[in-house]
Amino acid sequence: MESASEQTQDVIYCAEWVLPVTAAPLRAGAVLVHGERVAAVGPALDLAAANPQADVVDFGAAVLMPGFVNAHCHLEYATFRGIFDDEEFGDWIVRLVDAKAALSPSDYLHSALLGAAECVASGITTIADTAFGGETLLAAAQAGLRGRLYLEVFGIDDSRLDETMAELQARLEGARAAAPPQIEIGIAPHAPYTVSSRLYQTIAGYAREHGLKVASHVAESREELTYIRSGSGKFAHDFREKVGWERMLVQPYGVSPIKYLQQWGVFDRDFLAVHCVQASSDDIRILAGKGAAVAHCPKSNAKLGCGVAPLAEMLRQGVRVGFGTDSPASSNIMDMFDEMRTALFLHRAVERDVGVLSAQKCVYIATLGAADALGLADQVGSLEAGKYADLIAVDTSRSHFAPVEDPYSALVYGANQDDVTFTCVGGRVLYHDRVLRSLDAEAVRQGGIAVRQKLHARVRDGVRVGDDQSGWWHTIDRSTTTPDVPGADR
Ligand SMILES: [Zn+2]
Repeated sequence: MESASEQTQDVIYCAEWVLPVTAAPLRAGAVLVHGERVAAVGPALDLAAANPQADVVDFGAAVLMPGFVNAHCHLEYATFRGIFDDEEFGDWIVRLVDAKAALSPSDYLHSALLGAAECVASGITTIADTAFGGETLLAAAQAGLRGRLYLEVFGIDDSRLDETMAELQARLEGARAAAPPQIEIGIAPHAPYTVSSRLYQTIAGYAREHGLKVASHVAESREELTYIRSGSGKFAHDFREKVGWERMLVQPYGVSPIKYLQQWGVFDRDFLAVHCVQASSDDIRILAGKGAAVAHCPKSNAKLGCGVAPLAEMLRQGVRVGFGTDSPASSNIMDMFDEMRTALFLHRAVERDVGVLSAQKCVYIATLGAADALGLADQVGSLEAGKYADLIAVDTSRSHFAPVEDPYSALVYGANQDDVTFTCVGGRVLYHDRVLRSLDAEAVRQGGIAVRQKLHARVRDGVRVGDDQSGWWHTIDRSTTTPDVPGADR
């Protein structure tokens, strides 16, 4: 495998438009890449004249821009897309728990590889992924993606808290040992309905002590709000029964999920609150006051009938926000163009105000905004000298773009994931002319189809957790096995 540090040859990438994000769009622009970093951004003719030794790659009618930063995803659910398309959130998660138990570590790896391949081919260069096991880490590393993997934690039984923390520590050590330099490990206490207040507090303390970032699903659904406020509803009954917690006391807290978490001191600048659909202005003030960031997943929230997160208010209060695709189990595809477009339309419609979100602001949120939300703004998210060379080319030669006068408008209103033709992370080319270089696309596709057949059998037969030997997350020891990774250039 060719590593970025071995690439000493400078490359000038040129296109009709270069979108640095931190500066105005540049016509006939270029990006000079030296090793794993951007060395310069400027007019193509100037960069070529000043660097005659460099290779030149000209994308022609295209927009060259920083790779997308996907602020929330679950690569390992790529094979789950389209299985539960019409379930509302509470039923969807209960059915997901049943289906999840059908898969082995190797199945999760194949599923995550399918997700990683989609990210690369869609121009996503940094992911903030949440997963229980290490398969997503292996898949993302093999694909060449940059990012952060938040290891998922569950537990509402405080008598098992020490055990849960010891097991988390072991997984953290294993993941850190296996992670390539461009992937950081964090912690993801799953959600207020699956993690006790004591476990949240303990994780917050542990993360601060060890300098780890934290992400959690927060205020995603009405069911969660009802559960935290009143100790009742689908999560108090169906969900707890499903995961074997039915005998444990449910306590009504009388507050919103965000106020509830605030009581336990979990929010700070290293905390990423995923979703925040059920968030009042007061709730947002709490997040803004603590400097916590938000991953906004407009498509997932809309498809599951959860609602529309108050993005306009978050932006007004200065909360750092990035767009996330969430998992393909809910939003089907990891297409950041689709997320930008959905966000723009939803928020303009809800606010009855076209000024609430512009195409330019959407591109910012999908790149540098998300990088800022993850604490990575000094490394990625824009095309600037010194930052990592994480860049993509979006082909604008096709009729649905012509004529391109404003690249922001073309990208947000016209483009989709299939228009991406080139993806480069840290100077390493992962995708060129729509061909995957870091993964064997056909092997990945076949692996995903085989996993899907297992899932279908499970859903068709109506097998439920508890019906057989398969349990939920903690009975699947997925941290000790290292399945084979099908790859093209390892
Ligand atoms: Zn999620």
